[in-house]
Amino acid sequence: MIDERLLEILVCPACRTKVRLEGERLVCQNPACGLRYPIRDDIPVMLIHEAQKPEKAERRDQGPRTRDQGKET
Ligand SMILES: [Zn+2]
Repeated sequence: MIDERLLEILVCPACRTKVRLEGERLVCQNPACGLRYPIRDDIPVMLIHEAQKPEKAERRDQGPRTRDQGKET
């Protein structure tokens, strides 16, 4: 378990915003950033290249073409 005092001092290395514990990872509270950092052996991995981007941030400027194929199973 992550110590709350540790959480207090942890910030997202990408944007310097505080992070919060969400399940088993730390999530940047900056909505424009929102990177998710894994926790390994109770140690937060505050590395940008280890972080996951939120799904919402994925760009969809390809349009809905791939959804028109009717390939739902
Ligand atoms: Zn951030």
